[in-house]
Amino acid sequence: MTASVIEWSALAACKGPHRNVFFPPSALERKEDRLFREQQAKRICSGCCVKDACLDEALRNQESHGIWGGLNEVERRAKSTLVRTPPELARSDSR
Ligand code: SF4
Repeated sequence: MTASVIEWSALAACKGPHRNVFFPPSALERKEDRLFREQQAKRICSGCCVKDACLDEALRNQESHGIWGGLNEVERRAKSTLVRTPPELARSDSR
């Protein structure tokens, strides 16, 4: 863990007993259970003062599991793709 990660993670709103809602359980999870769990996590993220740093870190590390910065892995992948797509390619996709 780098110094900057230690700095922002000390202020994370997800520390404590509700931390388990940020990651899927080891057993199979039904879709409605996942949606409910992720909704709980995102609600916590919405009030977190280090949300941007958390999301930046997750995008930089290509975190493949869990809620980071208020986004799940699918939402982060979509955001990464948008950020990395040069404007000229994005325009050619929309034709
Ligand atoms: S944005 Fe969410 S996952 Fe990230 S530190 Fe804050 S509460 Fe935790």
